[in-house]
Amino acid sequence: MSSSTTPAALKAAILIVSTTAAQDPATDSADVTLRQVFEEQQHGSQWEVHESKIVPDDVVQIQKQIMLWTDKTSNGEEVNLIVTTGGTGFAVSDQTPEAVSALLHKEAPGLVHGMLAASLQVTPFAMMSRPVAGVRNGTVIITLPGSPKGARENLQAVIKLLPHACLQAAGANSRALHVGGVKRLEKEAGVEGGQGGERGRGHGHGHGHGDGHGHKHHGHGGHRGRGGGGGGGGGGCGAHGHGDSHGHNHGHNHGALVRHTTPSSSSNPKSNDPTLGPSRRHRESPYPMLSVTEALSQIAQHTPSPQIVTAKVGCSLVGAVLAQDVSARENVPAFRASIVDGYAVVVPQDGNMRGVFPVVSVSHAAPGEDMPTLKEGEVARITTGAPLPPGATSVIMVEDTVLVSTVKTGEDGVEEEKEVEILAADQVHECENVREVGSDIKQGQLILGMGVQVSAVGGEIGLLAAVGVGEVQVYRRPVVGVLSTGDEIVDHDLAGDLRLGEVRDTNRPTLISAARAWGYEVVDLGVARDKAGTLEETLRQALRQVDVVITTGGVSMGELDLLKPTIERSLGGTIHFGRVAMKPGKPTTFATVPVKDNDGERVSKVIFSLPGNPASALVTFHLFVLQSLHQLSGISPSGLPKVPVTLGHDFPLDRSRPEYHRAIVSVNRDGVLTAVTTGGQRSSMIGSMKGANALLALPSGPEPLRKGSKVEALLMGSLRSDM
Ligand code: AMP
Ligand code: MG
Repeated sequence: MSSSTTPAALKAAILIVSTTAAQDPATDSADVTLRQVFEEQQHGSQWEVHESKIVPDDVVQIQKQIMLWTDKTSNGEEVNLIVTTGGTGFAVSDQTPEAVSALLHKEAPGLVHGMLAASLQVTPFAMMSRPVAGVRNGTVIITLPGSPKGARENLQAVIKLLPHACLQAAGANSRALHVGGVKRLEKEAGVEGGQGGERGRGHGHGHGHGDGHGHKHHGHGGHRGRGGGGGGGGGGCGAHGHGDSHGHNHGHNHGALVRHTTPSSSSNPKSNDPTLGPSRRHRESPYPMLSVTEALSQIAQHTPSPQIVTAKVGCSLVGAVLAQDVSARENVPAFRASIVDGYAVVVPQDGNMRGVFPVVSVSHAAPGEDMPTLKEGEVARITTGAPLPPGATSVIMVEDTVLVSTVKTGEDGVEEEKEVEILAADQVHECENVREVGSDIKQGQLILGMGVQVSAVGGEIGLLAAVGVGEVQVYRRPVVGVLSTGDEIVDHDLAGDLRLGEVRDTNRPTLISAARAWGYEVVDLGVARDKAGTLEETLRQALRQVDVVITTGGVSMGELDLLKPTIERSLGGTIHFGRVAMKPGKPTTFATVPVKDNDGERVSKVIFSLPGNPASALVTFHLFVLQSLHQLSGISPSGLPKVPVTLGHDFPLDRSRPEYHRAIVSVNRDGVLTAVTTGGQRSSMIGSMKGANALLALPSGPEPLRKGSKVEALLMGSLRSDM
């Protein structure tokens, strides 16, 4: 194999993360510096800097730009490498590593070590950088520090190896790439390896398989190698099976165990095995108890990225988030228009418009009429919003004129104005009472930025409509499915009395309404019985139709609580959390499941399994599900808005768990937000949600929180006004 597999140039993109540079690109010098480093490689033939962009220290903006480069879109072309610079330190505003790591499909700690090791040799301050590196889709991403010098050193430390990483990440045939071993790779990359035979240490624990089969494959099966054999070429394990020796000649993963699937926790489920019966179930939940903050960060991390679609501008756009910057297609107004009802005039040099003038024409707001050119000494009657006749320079308000004479026109004998006198107008300026072309909105001007959510208030739709934009790119809003589970659950509108044990389905209508009210399309998935097979089939069906499944019930510790085992064991999903330290809502479960979409692509879909108790279900919907839905639809910040409120009375606290207390928050004349409870807070009591517009985030504690204390409230509905 020669290096002919290497394409002429790899595409790199540079993302400058700096709030200062975003405001004033002239302040940036990292771009030039990094471009130089790329230029220096193989006389500029190895890398082509495809694009550089500047974004402020803002997670969403960083992520959006990266995704534009990494996620296949119809118009875009992916790049091989993204280097970010800036935002890797410890300052509050530094969040590049967090923004980037959330996007990585694979992490590359080796590159991070490489960069840190190199820059530590220069300065101990390298410890103040928190780089991350990895792969998203086919693109390698590394975060460099913000100082041009640091950025250069870090990039130089790894750049020789990046072509190889990029080609592999992009899907190049890795076997072909590896022919000739690491030596060849090093030579091609122009880097020196470690000290001779020591190389490969840490990779090559080839403890022989000891099972005596003479199979041909070689390498380091040590970790998973069957049988003992211990050391010394326990038989037939191929050329590299030499005991615990580290000395073989390369450390790459050639041959040996080939794993075609990525291990996931689904191969090691925590959930009960339902076939074992109640006596063998866990008696304590095996899921670690996460704090609400940790749970939210799991959701942030594992919710799939939003997808971009084209949408027509119209009423259905309300709630959508723009995935592009939108510029005005047309000027508003498109013609010179009068701001008032009055007379269009041609202002003479001296500005003196006093006198009596003939009314030579009329301009109404009706379009398409040709108008004669107005001359000095003539006036044209004009209505608000109508185009000025050609030649007119100003408009005099009707209030500043008097009618002097009229004339009868046509057969119907309607009286028309013949002459008007303009009063007290000796200082008239050009363009008075005129809206110039494009004076409201200029053609080409940015009217709405990427990330803007189209409100129901109307301003955004109005802008798009005014400038003639018919279609926009938006984030696709996920479709939600709502499923109740439980043998005892009957439809809420079941006629007649309930039989012993039956419970009316409260959660389905509640959650469907809540999700719809937030602008999401909802599929009613009905009620599933507490049978493993039924539940699995229902969920599979659901995952074909919707992006996010919300189930309620079946997540407690009973033997009929089948959600977790079904997700893990039958659907191959990953449960990211199954217990949260909160009241209500402790068993809230969040999982993602691999699913093939209509195009046969593997995608990840989200399941929230909420507790069955109605108040718990609705609280956890607002706290957790909504954040994921927002994220999927590009809404940022995601989740309910937070406001500080003052307690209107004492609130008892739970001793061990923070509580999300349902409350009514109102604002008084002085702008003070006061919260009062909705009453009993037991998790079965849906009435605790009645009238509630907020969830108070109460800490745990032994004593009540006193009237007048300040707490954070999450707003579910609009504020009540006591004014
Ligand atoms: P589970 O987690 O299935 O044990 O449910 C906890 C409690 O919530 C039980 O009392 C259930 O009967 C109740 N529950 C579950 N689903 C619903 C529902 N859809 N509507 C009303 N109550 C429910
Ligand atoms: Mg149940």
